[in-house]
Amino acid sequence: MEHERPRDGDAEALILDSVRRFLERDVKPHVHRLEHDDVYPEEIVEKMKVLGLFGATIAAEYGGLGLSTQTYARIVELVSTVWMSLSGIFNSHLIMAAAVQRFGTEEQKRRFLPRFASGELRGGLALTEPDCGTDLQAIRTVARREGDQYRINGTKTWISNGIYGQCFALLVKTDPGAQPRHRGMSLFLAEKGPGFAVSRKLEKLGYKGIDSAELVFSDYRIPADRLIGGGEGRGLQHALGGLELGRINVAARGVGVAQAALDEAVRYSQLRHTFGKPICEHQAIALKLGEMATQVRAARLLVEDAARIYDRGERCDMEAGMAKLFATEAAIDCSLESMRIHGGYGYSKEFTVERLYRDAPLLVIGEGTNEMQRLIIARQLIQRNPV
Ligand SMILES: Cc1cc2nc3c(=O)[nH]c(=O)nc-3n(C[C@H](O)[C@H](O)[C@H](O)COP(=O)(O)OP(=O)(O)OC[C@H]3O[C@@H](n4cnc5c(N)ncnc54)[C@H](O)[C@@H]3O)c2cc1C
Repeated sequence: MEHERPRDGDAEALILDSVRRFLERDVKPHVHRLEHDDVYPEEIVEKMKVLGLFGATIAAEYGGLGLSTQTYARIVELVSTVWMSLSGIFNSHLIMAAAVQRFGTEEQKRRFLPRFASGELRGGLALTEPDCGTDLQAIRTVARREGDQYRINGTKTWISNGIYGQCFALLVKTDPGAQPRHRGMSLFLAEKGPGFAVSRKLEKLGYKGIDSAELVFSDYRIPADRLIGGGEGRGLQHALGGLELGRINVAARGVGVAQAALDEAVRYSQLRHTFGKPICEHQAIALKLGEMATQVRAARLLVEDAARIYDRGERCDMEAGMAKLFATEAAIDCSLESMRIHGGYGYSKEFTVERLYRDAPLLVIGEGTNEMQRLIIARQLIQRNPV
């Protein structure tokens, strides 16, 4: 596996600085309204294009910033400390781009990557179906070859960017009877057009602002040259190939949410007084703060470790799985503890912590549930330590 080399410290500091400025100036003042009205942040997306976020991990030769995964993970963490939903708008888009960059034909890279990098053509991953998410080999969306086209029928659900995105890495069966099942699976780059419909917007507990949708394909015709890599039967491998990067991204979101929950708790616990002193001086609250701070730091170190290994081009499914598992559970724990520290105000829509508490559970589901992460870690552990 070849990945982009890490940039030098100065370049990284500059990029992180501009992301910080963008978050302070263009995002923070609007989060509360956009979140509670569940509005897609179109103006912010325009600014994200200018910042280059839609090309963050796309190679410079195709118009991207070519950032290392380590730098990218720091950006995702920063963004998620302010509003996790924003990271979803470029995260799954970049995983789609990574599938093209790693497995696409040169023609596909030249045609799509520059438009992905500029943000002119945005999208994500369309893998999950109403009947299956974890067991992707059970999908029922089928693509039948007809001359130099394929005809696709099926339904995808929970697709991030499904309404505002225009192009999706679409996982289908090209040979539904194949055994093993993954040999009959292929990944297409599907742009919206006749036969490709958004059937509904899905309502959610949190992760507001970003659109999650059900997509229906009815006799949708797509040119054969949109099959990623050009050959049938490698779709599952191509879709899962991006998951190590995806897990590091989700882990980084977990660090961001956990950090934000900690920051809110550290601030509030000094301002709120009971029984004649700030609540941070009550041992029950201090114990929570100590635990949360340790979880956040450990989560960040696990993410950095996995990203470093990924950047070296080494296999890191175990390390990425550990980072994803730990950091996302930390996000759940810290958001709940921070809410408790806020007392009744933690339950109020006027305080940030209730959003963090609603956002965190998504992280233990997406990019492979945490149940699956534990199994992946255990399997790797046995493989790497045979007796
Ligand atoms: C807000 C949101 C955004 C999403 N965005 C996208 C997107 O952009 N693109 C996309 O394709 N999908 C997306 N998803 C779907 C997501 O990836 C799936 O929900 C996830 O993969 C889990 O699949 P499932 O919901 O079908 O659960 P299931 O696979 O039905 O799992 C149900 C439960 O069983 C457990 N389980 C399943 N199999 C095993 C096993 N072998 N061993 C132990 N436990 C097991 C799971 O851990 C889970 O607890 C999104 C989901 C949400 C909620």
